[in-house]
Amino acid sequence: MAEPPEGIGKASASEIVDWATRSFGSGAAFACSFGAEDMVLLDLIARSPVGARGAIRWFTLDTGRLYEETYGLMQTARSRYGLPLEVYTPAASELEPLLARGGPNLFYDSVENRKACCQVRKVAPLDRALRGAEAWIVGLRREQSTDRASVEKLSRDPMHRNIWKICPLADWTDAEVQEYVRARNVPTNPLHSKGFLSIGCAPCTRAVAPGEDPRAGRWWWETGVKECGLHSTLERGEPRAPAPAASAVRS
Ligand code: SF4
Repeated sequence: MAEPPEGIGKASASEIVDWATRSFGSGAAFACSFGAEDMVLLDLIARSPVGARGAIRWFTLDTGRLYEETYGLMQTARSRYGLPLEVYTPAASELEPLLARGGPNLFYDSVENRKACCQVRKVAPLDRALRGAEAWIVGLRREQSTDRASVEKLSRDPMHRNIWKICPLADWTDAEVQEYVRARNVPTNPLHSKGFLSIGCAPCTRAVAPGEDPRAGRWWWETGVKECGLHSTLERGEPRAPAPAASAVRS
């Protein structure tokens, strides 16, 4: 497994993407849910010498309950960037018993049911997607919610065999994301302009009011941590390996 150069924790997003794609190649997997941050990352990867060749993996989790706008963006992104997209879906052997037990909208009935649905539609497919990976790249930002305030650019992921978890945009502000999207004419989900700051499954996401927590629209009927298990260390408050100190990708 490639070790990160010292100081990558303070490197820029494009430097981190370049390092990750060069170091891990097909051992790196970019998890894309087609939010604005993920579109920025996709654009950065497509502009990196290694990423542009499709040498790292790009995957998404199709829960089967996404907005039509998200599927539309998925198509657009495939055409725009010309990179191979891996799509992971829930296993029928897990989904069918879940639907038989609780019906299609069981997630509204209890937190337990909501987590069971996320487990089948998201967490289990993610585990399959990361099988064999050495690192995964995600679009988490500290500003997205209080639960994500301590996200590191680089850490180990104890939920996935301790592989590297790389968050190149961890310290980006929302304004920086918007500026990148505008400057590079990056396609984004049209729902963002209708108040959807964080977009997940359609039945579990609503628009948020100005000034509201960006993730307040996710599972809005629940209180507490707004995570689905994909980033379980956030949910469980488990410690992360600290990122190495300053300046290295440049060396
Ligand atoms: S976000 Fe909602 S529909 Fe999507 S997997 Fe979780 S509970 Fe199921």
